[in-house]
Amino acid sequence: MTTFDNTLNADGALIVGAGLAGLFTALKLAPRPVTVLSPKPLGFGASSAWAQGGVAAAVGEGDSSHAHAVDTEMAGAGIVDHGTAESVTSEAAARIEDLARWGTPFDRDDFGQYELGREAAHSANRIVKVEGDRAGWAIMQAIIAQVRRTPSIRVVEGITALSLARDNGRIVGVFCRRLGDRYSEPIFIRARATVLAAGGLGGLYAVTTNPPGVRGHAMGMAARSGALIADAEFVQFHPTAIATGADPAPLATEALRGEGAILVNDLGERFMPAIHPDAELAPRDVVARANFRQIQSGRKVFLDTRQVLGEAILTRFPTVSRYCLDAGIDPVTGMIPVTPAAHFHMGGVKVDERGRSSLPGLWVCGEASCTGLHGANRLASNSLLEATVYGARIAEDIGGLEPARELTPFKGIEWNEAEGEKAEDVLRGTVAVQDLRRIMTDLVGVERNADGLRQALRGIAHLEATAEQVTSAYLNMTTSATLVAAVALKRTESRGGHFRTDYPQTDDRNWEHHTTMTLEEALAIRAGA
Ligand SMILES: Cc1cc2nc3c(=O)[nH]c(=O)nc-3n(C[C@H](O)[C@H](O)[C@H](O)COP(=O)(O)OP(=O)(O)OC[C@H]3O[C@@H](n4cnc5c(N)ncnc54)[C@H](O)[C@@H]3O)c2cc1C
Repeated sequence: MTTFDNTLNADGALIVGAGLAGLFTALKLAPRPVTVLSPKPLGFGASSAWAQGGVAAAVGEGDSSHAHAVDTEMAGAGIVDHGTAESVTSEAAARIEDLARWGTPFDRDDFGQYELGREAAHSANRIVKVEGDRAGWAIMQAIIAQVRRTPSIRVVEGITALSLARDNGRIVGVFCRRLGDRYSEPIFIRARATVLAAGGLGGLYAVTTNPPGVRGHAMGMAARSGALIADAEFVQFHPTAIATGADPAPLATEALRGEGAILVNDLGERFMPAIHPDAELAPRDVVARANFRQIQSGRKVFLDTRQVLGEAILTRFPTVSRYCLDAGIDPVTGMIPVTPAAHFHMGGVKVDERGRSSLPGLWVCGEASCTGLHGANRLASNSLLEATVYGARIAEDIGGLEPARELTPFKGIEWNEAEGEKAEDVLRGTVAVQDLRRIMTDLVGVERNADGLRQALRGIAHLEATAEQVTSAYLNMTTSATLVAAVALKRTESRGGHFRTDYPQTDDRNWEHHTTMTLEEALAIRAGA
């Protein structure tokens, strides 16, 4: 690699992204030195802080990690890695203990035992939660406080990574910029080990539950450096995002349906019992498609909590209630309008059981990675678990770092909140970004077909060729979009989160396996579309 003037040294490991995956890895690396990059102030801009359900862990009486693994495999529609499911679920209790030790106030009964919630497709109550629907926020507050107390962790806020830096085939850090500062020279941060924990890609879709900055940057960045990507076609659409037109769309947690809330259309018809024996608690993809089809046929869909919860929704689901009240909906007396929304990416940068990607020097964890745990469909609340399990494994795997002396803040890239906010508004409003998001929702969404996917690939190529400013950040997004659409075109069957109207059946004979792809292969598919 050529020498670069604008260089900072991470002194040890560099973690890109400050959601649960990134911060958990940083804490597990202590006292070894680590630098964490966060585009926004800690706690903002991460899906982790928005999680409502909690963390899945077989810590209840009569439950077992094996039963949890079996449920994970069932949900994953035939392509979950058996060994991964068994090992991740067996490490869950220890990772919950870590979170509790670092201050997460999990709900407990009078005897100090966890009070566990239930979510669809779990055969036992095993969701470790906080104050009903505030798990993500509470977990993040606790670990952020722990990070701030840890002298070996240097947090750099207001900075966004653009590309990975390679030297002799090894990843040696990242090129980054102050958030939105498109005109300055990129800064190179050199690191002994680079951990990509920059989240999923829900924000690539026009209708999503993910924060605005979570738009496939991680997968795009890694793919542009040649990393192998796995299962990119599998995007989970949450059936019940609150449909008020807000972007992102706030979530109405599945736990509401777990409590007995029902789905009805604007004619007052309850449609789920005719579609699946588990009705509203059918697998997420089934419910998402049912809602999608209602909406496609001109109906509106509502979640009705009035009978089962009534006023209790205000205290038992404070986050959902607040979203409703902010949108002028009274959740006690009214029904909640809902729509499917891009929510979680099962695919990502392919990693092994230690979190190593196919590129030497690059580890990946959290939603950015594909570990094989989720298969074609994630079991609810398994993602926060996966983030912690792989964060711990990566910290153990990164060798050769001495404990930190005192770390000094980086000079010259101080956070300016007002500037950063302005920059994000610009990014959110860019026509090219909005066009890309529309393509993804319309053509690579809940239901797909060959014509639409080809059209999407041509559209993405056109945007790359004609967008006024093709920045690295934009290329990261179009790269991820290309990968999702290209693999979705290749997989000529329906499975889990991937539904093809032209191939509606599951084809085990040809497709009961993961897909892996490089960007080069995806671009070849795009060129022929
Ligand atoms: C509304 C909602 C509810 C959910 N509920 C649950 C639940 O109950 N249980 C569960 O297990 N899962 C849940 N999920 C999924 C889960 O929250 C995520 O899969 C998980 O939090 C991902 O963690 P992460 O650390 O990988 O990514 P995130 O938490 O998304 O963090 C990504 C980080 O990377 C940063 N970043 C992005 N781009 C860049 C860049 N270019 N450079 C530097 N940094 C960058 C972001 O700012 C952020 O700090 C939910 C998701 C949503 C959206």
